[in-house]
Amino acid sequence: MLIGAHGLVFTGVFDEAGLRRAIEGTAAAGFDLIELPLMDPDNFDSALAGRLVADNGLQVTASLGLTDATDLTSEDSAAVKAGERMLEGCLDHVAAMGGGVLCGVIYSAMRKYMAPTTPAGVANSQAALARLADRARERGIRLCLEVVNRYESNVFNTARGGLRFVDGVGSDNVSLHLDTYHMNIEESDMWQPVLDAGDRLGYVHIGESHRGYLGTGTVDFDGFFRALDRVGFDGPVVFESFSSAVVSEQLSNTLGVWRNLWEDSDDLAAHANRFIRDGVHAVRTIAMH
Ligand code: MN
Repeated sequence: MLIGAHGLVFTGVFDEAGLRRAIEGTAAAGFDLIELPLMDPDNFDSALAGRLVADNGLQVTASLGLTDATDLTSEDSAAVKAGERMLEGCLDHVAAMGGGVLCGVIYSAMRKYMAPTTPAGVANSQAALARLADRARERGIRLCLEVVNRYESNVFNTARGGLRFVDGVGSDNVSLHLDTYHMNIEESDMWQPVLDAGDRLGYVHIGESHRGYLGTGTVDFDGFFRALDRVGFDGPVVFESFSSAVVSEQLSNTLGVWRNLWEDSDDLAAHANRFIRDGVHAVRTIAMH
């Protein structure tokens, strides 16, 4: 199991200075892996990012949320084509960095929709993802679709809904990505979704109910860590936290980060690294009971 941190814990800008800050901060906090957001793939230097990640002894993954212009669930074929093209560019970035996962809201726009999905839109997204999954496999990359709450996508909001959608894509190179922040809003508890997903769970985000310090909100991390252990989850477990102390104009506004929950990225990250490792470590001993 690789324990990681999202780059936005440290910086909202992923130019050379931002990449250095995020990658060196992630390594200093004790993590194994950094997840880099690809919100602006045209201006992302994946060769530099890959070099810095390797220099700091980290593994790397990448994530993003689509926009209206790249929405795979659109009934406008131009938007679907643009989304597919953009995601293929993201696969090139992940490959250039030496990563093995592209995750996040890569099946629809990441925003509050004002209407449900349409069958044609869902079919567009599933067909595009099936093609992208093949191209990802050629590059040694797995696609992981993040289950997010109702205010950030209309396609699926629970693990069961996500699994049905993945069934429709029909590729074994597509897995589910669960996030405790979203689960805490939409799921009936923190363990059934993990058991339902089983070996189709490919990626995990760890976020508190208010996206601040772990352990200061209402998420049942104990139940969640027990469930991860029960299904033998061995993929990346990545800490996500957002505060107005670190601002990415696009991501912060999309996610509704309006207030300050912490000031010190390094202290937050070091605490999260300990919290996740301690939680995962303790539940491993349950097998001895
Ligand atoms: Mn997430």
